[in-house]
Amino acid sequence: MEKEIIKTKRICLECDEKLIGRKDKKFCSDQCRTSFFNRMNSDQSKFMKNINNILRKNRKILESMVSGRSSKVQRFELLDEGFKFSYFTNEYITKTGKTYRFCYEFGYVPVDINSFMIVQRKEYID
Ligand SMILES: [Zn+2]
Repeated sequence: MEKEIIKTKRICLECDEKLIGRKDKKFCSDQCRTSFFNRMNSDQSKFMKNINNILRKNRKILESMVSGRSSKVQRFELLDEGFKFSYFTNEYITKTGKTYRFCYEFGYVPVDINSFMIVQRKEYID
């Protein structure tokens, strides 16, 4: 009786079926193993897809507002388009301390508290 209580119940991670056999076994069958990992992968790709969509949208907004090499926009103009300031692909800080934030090749740098200069980068910088 006591042995039964101490024993931890081992169940399949996918279907909750009781597991028998090897101690490190996590699934009752190959089928359960496969569907478990497929599900995990699709959750991950959903997460990445959502973030990629935000970044793509940010990039599109910047692209639509840039004219020539650089142009000035108001913060509210970006917000009106649905721009999300917390998402960007990389940051570049100049020697003078200006912070450029990029969504792929399009970036912005604050001019004052309510406006930004949009820039387009021609080359990839690591
Ligand atoms: Zn199972």
